[in-house]
Amino acid sequence: MLELKHIKKYYYVGDSVTKALDDVSVSFRQQEFVAILGPSGSGKTTLLNGIGRLDIYDSGDLIINGKSTKDFSEADWDAYRNNSVGFIFQSYNIIGHLSILDNVEMGMTLSGVPNQEKKEKATEALERVGLGPHMNKKPNQLSGGQLQRVAIARAIANDPEILLCDEPTGALDTETSEEIMQLIKELSAERLVVMVTHNPTLADEYADRIINFADGKILNDSNPYQENEAEDNFELKKTKMTFWTALKLSFTNLKTKKARTFLTAFASSIGIISIAIVLALSSGFQKQIDKTQGNTLAQFPVTISQTATKTTAQTYEKMKTSKSNKITAKLSQAEKATHTNKIDSDYLSYIKKLDPQLSKNVTYTYSTGMNLLSKQNGKVKTAQFSNSNSSSNDSTSQMTSAMSSSSGVGGSVYPSSSDNGAGFLKKHYSVLAGSMPKNENDIVLIVNRDNSTNINALKNIGMNVKDGQKLNFNKLVGTQLKIVSNDNYYKSTGSGTYTPNSDLSSMYDNSNNRTVRISGILRVKSKSSENILSSGIAYGDKLTQDIIQDNKNSDIVKAQKSSDSNVLTGQSVDGTTKKSLVSYLGGSTTPASILIYPNTFKNKDKVLKYLDKYNKGKSSSDKVIYTDLAGQVSNLTGGLMDAITYVLVAFAGISLVTSMIMIAIITFTSVLERTKEIGILKALGARKKDITRVFDAETVILGVSSGLLGVIIAWLATFPINAILKSMTDLSNVAQLNPIHAIILIIISTVLTVIGGHVPARMAAKKDAATALRSE
Ligand code: ADP
Repeated sequence: MLELKHIKKYYYVGDSVTKALDDVSVSFRQQEFVAILGPSGSGKTTLLNGIGRLDIYDSGDLIINGKSTKDFSEADWDAYRNNSVGFIFQSYNIIGHLSILDNVEMGMTLSGVPNQEKKEKATEALERVGLGPHMNKKPNQLSGGQLQRVAIARAIANDPEILLCDEPTGALDTETSEEIMQLIKELSAERLVVMVTHNPTLADEYADRIINFADGKILNDSNPYQENEAEDNFELKKTKMTFWTALKLSFTNLKTKKARTFLTAFASSIGIISIAIVLALSSGFQKQIDKTQGNTLAQFPVTISQTATKTTAQTYEKMKTSKSNKITAKLSQAEKATHTNKIDSDYLSYIKKLDPQLSKNVTYTYSTGMNLLSKQNGKVKTAQFSNSNSSSNDSTSQMTSAMSSSSGVGGSVYPSSSDNGAGFLKKHYSVLAGSMPKNENDIVLIVNRDNSTNINALKNIGMNVKDGQKLNFNKLVGTQLKIVSNDNYYKSTGSGTYTPNSDLSSMYDNSNNRTVRISGILRVKSKSSENILSSGIAYGDKLTQDIIQDNKNSDIVKAQKSSDSNVLTGQSVDGTTKKSLVSYLGGSTTPASILIYPNTFKNKDKVLKYLDKYNKGKSSSDKVIYTDLAGQVSNLTGGLMDAITYVLVAFAGISLVTSMIMIAIITFTSVLERTKEIGILKALGARKKDITRVFDAETVILGVSSGLLGVIIAWLATFPINAILKSMTDLSNVAQLNPIHAIILIIISTVLTVIGGHVPARMAAKKDAATALRSE
């Protein structure tokens, strides 16, 4: 059934040639017990390995059941080892980290025998070799004889036609040797057994046929056989290890080396840890920066006022002593730098077209007064939203002060054109009582973080309060004020001048009044947004716009527009003052200033670019100059943070590369360590691919666990890091590990580890079974 034809195998070491097999030709019967006897080094093992294809001979042919194996592919040989041959070695070659049953099942596992059948066959084989009662022990709990029985059970479990034994009793005592030989003898009743030994007594006692071997040649054969030209009736079942088997094999192996596996995973997770922390920190810092940017920009919006200061650098003129007898009239530098912006309808519509993505908030302030009346305890008083200690409630003096300050009525103005200010207010303020404004007639009271607010702001809306007095929220929320239209507020004296109505009560009750209401008390959220709106009353710019709509065609406005004197005092006025008066009375739709609140510094730059574009090609007097206070504060932060992040990522990258190299080294040592196991698997018919798979599976396990470990450690590390940062910088929760980053890092860890381990795994797979088995 098995025929060797002119098999040669030479080993070349240096200049010397060892003819391990020197043209060997021999045939074996379907059923017999052949002992190959010879001195050590005569080539017996080489012959056996050649028959079992653990080793590749140089030339010759092996004929199995009439089929030449000359054209066998790698896969054919793998299948041949798996289906047709069983090996028994001197050193047992049991895989230590697998259970006895798993060891016996391995050959069938490789050829994909179903679990149930596999288990039955393995149990049967173990019972046959007398290990029934020891089946549940681990390999390291067995004696040498018992281990050899496991090896025999493994060899016969798949019921092979050929059993190849290499000094099966070489490591056993005499008594155990007898038992093992007896067992092998029994097995030879069903198949061909070829046993290599240097022990003539054993050979004589048990073998049917003895072949004497020396120097790679057959000396004599006690029972030679000539194979008839048989039919080619040889069939092979291909082997294939599933990735699941590979995973299990790796997993049990790693399980036996828990401490080392953990250390390996930990060492290779260092790269992941550092990258995860850098990511957590930089995204936390970015959030922090965005917040700071938002707050800074809310405090220092880009401002366009009616008068601006040119930012051209102040030059120091060198003065020469003059010899002339004349005087030169000269503007001061400050006056030269003063520029009047023409905020006309052109400019306003240009601002309206500003990309709302860049700046959701634009405030228009007006120098318009409001004819405000309050009623406390039945007493009606004139009121205002101002914080200043203006005890005078006479509108004439208000008007004079209005002309000097830019805002007409005081109080803070927030952008409210699109959403009644909700977006802007929510970002920086929290509601203490009441609610956010719901329409333009809702105003709010802003309090400091200690719930204090300016006393004058309260007095000016009619509250009777003393310094330090505490007020209930509900005393303030819902407080109503009336805004009286010009036509109801001022009455003509007949001689071209106007005077405020003195009957405040009936004015208060006029049904045409606009009622404004304190809808809520708002408190600043954080220290950094403290100066956005000053404490006191705040209202949306929409309210002023509405009042201007109400009043722009009122009698007093018309009168003021056509008169060259102040219609309230009768004093004559110049053009500029007249403009201010018209504006104060609500006759001008031109805002006193425009405040643009971009959301980030980047967007601020875009806003500025947009504003600069307007000035292009315009004469210097037509240019509109803005003030960018935030620009002077900020330029640093953004770029600096980017730079720091890059440096950190670079460092983290280096540690990732380092840990990848470490993984590669560790897999490499693991491969070296498990060379013997590779040999065993190959002897059982595992393909190259299967071997690679086992190691790939191992690196997958390592990669996933080091990724997981890294992410968990990094996540745990964010707590102390945040605590330290909090104590050092007052910033809380800076380091935040994004779950998406965590998942990506685990994937990266796995992929890198597998790549790092794949090369040594491929190298392991290429090893010859015989070479691999010989390693210790
Ligand atoms: P035996 O099994 O009879 O003791 P072997 O088959 O192991 O003999 O070895 C036969 C000869 O081939 C020995 O001289 C041995 O040194 C040599 N040999 C075996 N393997 C190698 C190898 N990988 N490289 C070089 N020489 C080898």
